Amino acid sequence: MNTSKHIGIIGGGYAGLTAAYELQKQGYHVTVLERDDHWGGQAATIPLFDTYIEHFYHHLFGSDTHIINLMEEMGLADHLEWIASKVGFYHEGQILDFITPMDLLRFAPLSLWNRIKLGLMYLYMQRVNDWRPYERITAKEWLLKYMGQEIYDKVWGALLRGKFGNLADEVAMVWLWGKIKVRASSRRGAQQQEKLAYPRGSFQVITDALLERLRAGGADLRTGQPVDHVVTDAKEPNRVTGLVAGEGPFDGAHGRQKMAFDAVICTAPGYELLRIAPQITGPYADNLRAVRYQAALALLLVSKHSLSRIYWMNIPDRSFPFVAVVEHTNYMPPENYQGRHIIYVSNYLSPDDPRFHMEGEELLRLYTPHLQRINPEFNEDWVEQTFVLRDSSGQPVITRNYSQRLPDHRTPLQGLYLANALQIYPEDRGTNYAVMIGQRIARIVHEDLVEG
Ligand SMILES: Cc1cc2nc3c(=O)[nH]c(=O)nc-3n(C[C@H](O)[C@H](O)[C@H](O)COP(=O)(O)OP(=O)(O)OC[C@H]3O[C@@H](n4cnc5c(N)ncnc54)[C@H](O)[C@@H]3O)c2cc1C
Repeated sequence: MNTSKHIGIIGGGYAGLTAAYELQKQGYHVTVLERDDHWGGQAATIPLFDTYIEHFYHHLFGSDTHIINLMEEMGLADHLEWIASKVGFYHEGQILDFITPMDLLRFAPLSLWNRIKLGLMYLYMQRVNDWRPYERITAKEWLLKYMGQEIYDKVWGALLRGKFGNLADEVAMVWLWGKIKVRASSRRGAQQQEKLAYPRGSFQVITDALLERLRAGGADLRTGQPVDHVVTDAKEPNRVTGLVAGEGPFDGAHGRQKMAFDAVICTAPGYELLRIAPQITGPYADNLRAVRYQAALALLLVSKHSLSRIYWMNIPDRSFPFVAVVEHTNYMPPENYQGRHIIYVSNYLSPDDPRFHMEGEELLRLYTPHLQRINPEFNEDWVEQTFVLRDSSGQPVITRNYSQRLPDHRTPLQGLYLANALQIYPEDRGTNYAVMIGQRIARIVHEDLVEG
């Protein structure tokens, strides 16, 4: 189909780029406006040695069929490497494996009966498909009722606090159900070993493939273009007809510009949509405003030595100033990075937390004594480079009965659509679901434009 219709897309993460790609395939002219100076959103990368590394640690699960199918469509299927993951728990100076059912049975922080109970919980949750009962109860309430205090304190409660801070008690059980389900999809064989996928060459390979196809199809792709506000029709104030984007005065090529569109898709967080389109009021705006986000903060270390043998180490101990250490090179070997070890020291916190605003050296100074609790030999001389990566909308906090507040893709303003992490439910956000939602929004916009 050939159409002269022009779609504006706010955000060049995976939702925005996928929506653009799908709409372009339908014959639409697309413009993607990205605030940052790079593409990929939360899955963006930085160049490192002769390859790339993600701002935040990334991998794919067995159930991530949308992004895997997209990779196949773009000829990237052979880039995916399925690698055994090494997950562990830091507990009182020890690093405990947390990979197979046998590890669970040996998991010293819990009594034997509670280890069995935790294993049964995993088995049960994997088989449950009806998530609705789990959205009516918080994870804390469910865990205390069915698993008891010890499992809550030493495992789930600690992990929930790590991810959601003082909002942890409000998180609905459906979120935890989704996490267990997705991890179960990546377990294989009698050993139930988890295998996770990583694209050889990093997620940049997927971003580049999308950009290449978009450019070949004539898409207008602009970075460094923060969208400031939507433009509405003078006669129909409820109808969006364009966007104002860019920085500085209205001076043509480099300054702010007004652009006309037949439809606009916003893939930015909910609060950003409300800033860009303050005309949105009522329950739709209230529901978006009610969602709180935890910010993501990663200190990426390029190190001469390895910190531990674990890929993903949960740190449930709140005396640490971080919640996990993800040693990427215990997954993708150091040979990919000229023998260096790539270590993310990870935090989820409130954007008001002072750590969220610290620079690399300051964070490293704060973290070093705690990294030495994991490996006493660690010292700052190991570290050749540091990068600090931040995202203030790292993780939406999904509270009880969220299905009743799930924002529609069609906003109250005609011609303006929303496609972001707040519409991924009951699963948790991820690149797979960003692709899914990009494909979905493209179908909805197409239907409306064909009918309208
Ligand atoms: C710490 C961390 C670890 C993660 N690990 C994984 C993982 O292992 N596997 C996985 O699949 N997923 C993972 N994710 C999640 C995954 O990266 C995201 O779900 C996905 O990339 C989101 O894509 P998106 O396009 O919906 O949103 P985003 O990537 O957030 O894209 C939105 C874009 O909109 C832009 N924008 C915002 N406001 C404006 C504006 N006013 N004008 C123009 N542009 C604007 C932003 O700059 C951004 O680029 C992780 C995320 C984090 C934070």
